Amino acid sequence: MKKHPLKLYNTLGRKKQLFKPIKKGMVGLYTCGPTVYSYAHIGNLRTYIFEDILKRVLIENGYKVKHVMNITDVGHLTSDADTGEDKVEKSAKEQKKTVWDIAGFYTKVFQEDIAKLHILDPDIWCRATDHIKEQIELIKKLEKKGLTYKTSDGIYFDTSKFKDYGILGNIKAEGLKAGVRVEIGEKKNPTDFALWKFSPKDSKRQMEWKSPWSEKGFPGWHIECSAMSMKYLGNRFDIHCGGEDHIHVHHPNEIAQSEGVIGKKWVNFWMHGIFLVLDKDKMSKSKGNILTLSSLEEEGYGPLIYRYLCLNTHYRKPLSFSFEAMDTAKNSFERFKEKILEIRGSDEKKGEGRTKKYREDFYKSINDDLNMPKALSIAWNLLRDEKLGDKWKWELIQDFDHVLGFDVSQFEKEEVKISDEVKKLVDKREKLRKAKKFDEADKIRDELRKEGYELMDTPSGVEIKKV
Ligand code: AMP
Ligand code: ZN
Repeated sequence: MKKHPLKLYNTLGRKKQLFKPIKKGMVGLYTCGPTVYSYAHIGNLRTYIFEDILKRVLIENGYKVKHVMNITDVGHLTSDADTGEDKVEKSAKEQKKTVWDIAGFYTKVFQEDIAKLHILDPDIWCRATDHIKEQIELIKKLEKKGLTYKTSDGIYFDTSKFKDYGILGNIKAEGLKAGVRVEIGEKKNPTDFALWKFSPKDSKRQMEWKSPWSEKGFPGWHIECSAMSMKYLGNRFDIHCGGEDHIHVHHPNEIAQSEGVIGKKWVNFWMHGIFLVLDKDKMSKSKGNILTLSSLEEEGYGPLIYRYLCLNTHYRKPLSFSFEAMDTAKNSFERFKEKILEIRGSDEKKGEGRTKKYREDFYKSINDDLNMPKALSIAWNLLRDEKLGDKWKWELIQDFDHVLGFDVSQFEKEEVKISDEVKKLVDKREKLRKAKKFDEADKIRDELRKEGYELMDTPSGVEIKKV
């Protein structure tokens, strides 16, 4: 088969580039993980699905991937300008729990969510609070290099002393857009950021540590990612990912910290997923307009339907979420599943010569900066090809599934068990339909849909599916 080289869009340089690992056959991958003060919303999860596809494509290209993901359980403040409350402390206060309970609870839910979405687990999970020592060590090194200064509330990174600050986000250290006034307080430059914060004097934090700079304090949000990625992946590694919001603050700050210490280029590829939006508004935990995976499940959309929806939009395009789009994804995914069940285990061997082109086209698409909408359409063309035997279709689809991640061999025909009560309603609806009382009949169908049953009128009668 003709090999297509893997090309990935690098935010650093803003173009598709040929991917070459630092060490032959190996890839170091760091993905910024969740801040565990609340449930992950489906926007967050879109980013983790994109990163999962990236990882699967790397593996499919024969690389051994070492994947590290952090859990932010301290230091992420309500404002990106290093002010406001710590999100985890705030949530703990509101819910009258300890910070450790809050962080533990939302970490667990997050890990369950990603498992439901068939996102492969990272090789290493690392919590910010387990790496306080490493973060302090890194700040000490930056201090020695003269890149930090102290204010009344913490230790800050002086971005004017770091030559390449903001290259990733095209930000100039002199400031943000002219005319935009920013409150910088004691900071020397608007882009400077906290490395270590001193605990406030007027309130008691649950998470705080002793450091060379104060009796009690806690790390800034950005330093954890530099400290932990370098601990587990070394001073240079291949790919670092996150959502697009990280292009302008979090990732430039990580680069400043890490390159400030090592004095040379740190990460080769920076990749960012574009946001999921709701009616042109961004979905964010702080705005409160969030949908979770569980809320989708409650509406009758299983996690894999959401995965299917995400795969149908390229990760570098906004995904405009709507329930209409979810319905379309649900229908397509159901048909996909049915088709797979039809061909699975078949022995029909016609047209083997046709497989080569499908395989080539599929791998060409995934290697073209993870073009999953194209890859999915190729999978569909394959399933619909009447000149190709089902045996070959099944073989190919299993290979494609290494990247699609639906776990096609686990698809099951659903035997719907229905209660007497549901059966009665189905019969009642049939009678109403026969009497041409369609409005009333539709009401029953909607009612049953809410209960998780989908009714389909087929020539041989009503079919009931569990959704
Ligand atoms: P957080 O838990 O807020 O630290 O965010 C976790 C990840 O989700 C980060 O990579 C963010 O960039 C990403 N993210 C946040 N909001 C969205 C959104 N609406 N769509 C896609 N990704 C998002
Ligand atoms: Zn990070």
